Amino acid sequence: MARKSLSLFCAACMLAVTVPGMAASQYHPEVAAHRGASGYMPEHTLEAKSLAYAMGVDYIEQDVVMTRDKKLMVMHDVFLDTTTDVARRFPDRKRKDGRYYACDFTADEIRSLRVSERFNPKTGKAIFPGRFPLNTTIEYRVPFLEEEFQQVQGLNKSTGHNIGVYVEVKEPDFFAKQGLPILEATIDMLTRYGYNSPDSRAILQIFDYDAVRKARELGWKGPLAMLVEADGQGQKDDAAVHGWLQTDEGLKELARYATIYAPDFALLAVPSQDGKSYTRSDLGDRARKAGMKLHTWTFRVDSMPKGFKTTKDVMDFCFKDLKLDGIFSDFPDVVVNYLKENHLR
Ligand code: CA
Repeated sequence: MARKSLSLFCAACMLAVTVPGMAASQYHPEVAAHRGASGYMPEHTLEAKSLAYAMGVDYIEQDVVMTRDKKLMVMHDVFLDTTTDVARRFPDRKRKDGRYYACDFTADEIRSLRVSERFNPKTGKAIFPGRFPLNTTIEYRVPFLEEEFQQVQGLNKSTGHNIGVYVEVKEPDFFAKQGLPILEATIDMLTRYGYNSPDSRAILQIFDYDAVRKARELGWKGPLAMLVEADGQGQKDDAAVHGWLQTDEGLKELARYATIYAPDFALLAVPSQDGKSYTRSDLGDRARKAGMKLHTWTFRVDSMPKGFKTTKDVMDFCFKDLKLDGIFSDFPDVVVNYLKENHLR
């Protein structure tokens, strides 16, 4: 009798506590710093990662590519020539297509390169002219995945926070064809740093559906995000697979492996032909119905998505309409501030 009264009392307490504002307090969308705070500092430098950390994000992103001697380095492109001085330092090392591939260089050679703000290798001009200056003499270096983990875990220790990592394996099929087991090595490294568990503070993200499935076969137990884009990957012709991943059948199949569905923002807010408006798609709702969380990419204040005029318009769409679970941003502080102002963190 006493136990029953107690449980009734507890149920009443919960009701009293949970009813007012319950929906708002339960909804805590997460912010991932895209290539670090890349809107403010050269992408994928440890400096840009520290800045992002200080902005109060939930996750810091690492894009991973592999060197010739099988070391995991952090860079967005499989090419070195859009963010480093490789063309000046190693002019004879380009392939027939004129590009410098990370997988043709050793880790020591990569370490000798200097990183700058992103630029067009043909014109030498900055991709985002309003961002950090292109020509400085600061010696930013390419980080390695292990160093990124040490830095985030080091900051977690010294600050008492528990910020996560959001690790993308770039082009696993391309690297496998070069004899470089990038997926296996990335999962090994995550495991070595204590990240391989279902409640992990590491999310593994991949554009390649075969690799998403293989990640589970290889024993990845943590959160797993399927990145989806209309055109598929750069080095693999898989646009048809990405189309299928937007069907109910594809979503249901995918949900056996992936815990997060992470489409390009343009698949959620589909731009009109003239780019002046957009249509809200039901893709995110269907992905959720299939049992996955919904993340998207990439929010940039200096490159607004088509059909949106202001930052607030984009943020309201993301968090009041779509109710995203997470978003990547080059300007993570803008998202963090919006969420704070709207009592979502
Ligand atoms: Ca990425």
